[in-house]
Amino acid sequence: MKILVLGGAGYIGSHTVYELIDAGEEVVIIDNLQTGYAKAVHPKAVFYKGDLRDREFLDSVLEKEKDIDAVIHFAANSLVGESMIKPLKYYDNNLCGTKTLLEALIAHGIDKIVFSSTAATYGEPERVPILESDRTDPTNTYGETKLSMEKMFKWVGKAHGLRYVSLRYFNACGAHKSGKIGEAHQPETHLIPLILQVPNGKREAISIFGTDYPTKDGTCVRDYIHVTDLAQAHILAVKYLMEGKESNIFNLGNGVGFTVKEVIETARKVTGLPIKAVEEDRRAGDPAVLIASSQKARDILGWKPEHDSLEEIIDSAWKWHKSHPNGYEE
Ligand code: UDP
Repeated sequence: MKILVLGGAGYIGSHTVYELIDAGEEVVIIDNLQTGYAKAVHPKAVFYKGDLRDREFLDSVLEKEKDIDAVIHFAANSLVGESMIKPLKYYDNNLCGTKTLLEALIAHGIDKIVFSSTAATYGEPERVPILESDRTDPTNTYGETKLSMEKMFKWVGKAHGLRYVSLRYFNACGAHKSGKIGEAHQPETHLIPLILQVPNGKREAISIFGTDYPTKDGTCVRDYIHVTDLAQAHILAVKYLMEGKESNIFNLGNGVGFTVKEVIETARKVTGLPIKAVEEDRRAGDPAVLIASSQKARDILGWKPEHDSLEEIIDSAWKWHKSHPNGYEE
């Protein structure tokens, strides 16, 4: 297959490209390198640097790269905190980018798209584990734009015969087994990379945001899922669309929740180093518990997370961060 990966230089995008190329697929990447890294681009992928909002650029790539079977779309801004301060940046990049992309795909007859969505589309859950059919009521602009992107695919799909799979990830983490690529955000806001900055000597302590949640130790519970398992789900979703199946939405998580304190304790065990933690107030907009039901992805896509132990996930992240304390920067 020939797959166009938008945002293939980002965290989850680059890991998906590595899995696609390992599986023998042909990969074309578009990334504007706003938050992605040229060093995360797989050497065997064809890479075009450019922006989804630039229709001429998209047309030039699609004219050159004929016979694209499907698109995997990761290209978006994804920081919850930033999305609350700069909402229009998120509407512009995430929604306007997707609109221009869809216009170009329709013009070039490309009708299959796998889309990177998020648990943030649910907001405060009605119940856990969360099912795909549960209420979606985002509590931040990031989740709202992702939900709007899903709806854009739905209505454009009905009008133009395009089919899509939307994958709603829970907490992506971990790094590729090769040690060549891993998580690198600027600024970093995610729990596991921030915890590992402590044993890496880059941070004195990890802050625990809130200790009065209704959970077993008072800290938030999340469903941590290895990035390679997410990557595999994208390949299965492409195959699902290639088989002619209908548009669909799937949660991707392990179905097991860990508290912030449990994640810190596991990181202490994995690194063998002390990790100082400081208890702080709650962070705005954090639901107490987010756990996925991924039964639908298991039943319909045949997906099964393989790296489902938290120790293994943190161990792979630690290998990456230890050898790349500044991410992709020298
Ligand atoms: N968290 C924390 N300290 C930090 C960063 C995050 O206690 O320095 C908590 C955060 O409140 C949430 C969990 O860790 O309950 C996971 O946060 P992250 O930002 O990694 O992912 P999110 O669940 O927001 O997508």
